[in-house]
Amino acid sequence: MIIKNAHILIVDDDEFNLELLSLVLTGQGYEVTTLNNSKLALTKAKSDSPDLILLDVNMPEMSGYEVCSQLKKCEEVKDIPVIFITALDDVLDKLEAFSVGCVDYINKPFALVEVLARVESQLNIRQLQSQLQQKAKSLEIENEFLQNRVCDRLGFDHELYKDLRVAQAQNQLQLYYQPIINFDTGEILSFEALLRWIHPVHGIISPTDFIPLAESTGLIIPIGFWVIEQAIAQLSNWNQLFPEYANLSITVNASGYQLQDDSLFRHTQNALQASNVDPQKLKLEITESVLMSDPDTAIKVLNRFKQLGVHLYIDDFGTGYSTLSRLYDFPVDVLKIDRSFVNDGQWTMIEAITNLAKTLGKDIIIEGIETIEQLTILKNIGCHKGQGYYFSKPLDAVKTTNTLKRTLAIKTPEIFGVLV
Ligand code: C2E
Ligand code: MG
Ligand code: MG
Repeated sequence: MIIKNAHILIVDDDEFNLELLSLVLTGQGYEVTTLNNSKLALTKAKSDSPDLILLDVNMPEMSGYEVCSQLKKCEEVKDIPVIFITALDDVLDKLEAFSVGCVDYINKPFALVEVLARVESQLNIRQLQSQLQQKAKSLEIENEFLQNRVCDRLGFDHELYKDLRVAQAQNQLQLYYQPIINFDTGEILSFEALLRWIHPVHGIISPTDFIPLAESTGLIIPIGFWVIEQAIAQLSNWNQLFPEYANLSITVNASGYQLQDDSLFRHTQNALQASNVDPQKLKLEITESVLMSDPDTAIKVLNRFKQLGVHLYIDDFGTGYSTLSRLYDFPVDVLKIDRSFVNDGQWTMIEAITNLAKTLGKDIIIEGIETIEQLTILKNIGCHKGQGYYFSKPLDAVKTTNTLKRTLAIKTPEIFGVLV
């Protein structure tokens, strides 16, 4: 298909060629400009913005190769396709032609039908590319519009959403780490990776304030990939720095939206391989409500993690819908009892959940231990593992590494609590 009114610039020192090509192309309905001085080609391309340039290779003032590389370095004209017209028929010449950025070449003496066919095909490609770019732009605008509607509907701030979209690229996301302690030995069993957004204006933003926004706009997917990669790389680093902590593991939170397909699984598998980390040292926490919203899909994805060797935890156990009826089906290893139970002193409930877990062959981790009194009661109930401000608040990677250094020899949680 001839693209009407397309503008072609022909640069050739041979007046006869210029005239012949011009005549034929004009006859086809193209708008043609000719130039016999190659030194002026760049200026002419900038002023005329042609859709295509036909460029002779052998010219006295400046070779076609030099002209083409100048064009390709110039932001304004670099996307204009260039077809070389050359008497050279050597393979190396052709390779050089492509290496400086031409899209095609025509051998001299040329057959006019071939010139027309090559010109037409390059103009068609250019038109399709520009249509694709326009489509991509309009999709981007439409996407932004829809995202803003989602924000409106859910009562999120547009500005916060815009900021969150660039937060990852601008290195504003950071993982903090909170130790999970064995009450009997004082050992650090694992670190739970907890996301923080270091906002350039608002400072540190808590995940409870931006994870829901990330979930409802889909940003949780790339953010979740980053979290898992970062956490696994950090564990690998600690494993190398502290051979004494050979059994140390890392615990990562996953949102239900991340379990709707197996992309998180594939990412995790790659990250574990890249860092040479044993999958058994990765613990994945999923909240109870998430498991209940689409239990069948969740079970499928969770089983893939399980087969890989990753341990699975139900987070905030006791706060969501009752998972009791499905507890048997979920391939989880640990129930993490929500910190509201400790905070409200619901010791009987904690004891009952602990007994239930034992019956089901699952382990228990208690969240939100803030005082020695709470710890003592929990130990008497028969709980052995937990985390909370009593031991340590979540700390950034540097502070956590320093804590690990200092606590290497220490084996009691009470001392651990005082130290950090
Ligand atoms: P969570 O997974 O249940 O994490 C425990 C939360 O309790 C953390 O809040 C932690 O700082 C806090 N906490 C721990 N010990 C105590 C304590 O003794 N007292 C009190 N008052 N709080 C304590 P944080 O870091 O604000 O995280 C909140 C939630 O955000 C997490 O709850 C988790 O559901 C979610 N989250 C955090 N990071 C991620 C992430 O990377 N991905 C996803 N999907 N969710 C995340
Ligand atoms: Mg958690
Ligand atoms: Mg929790």
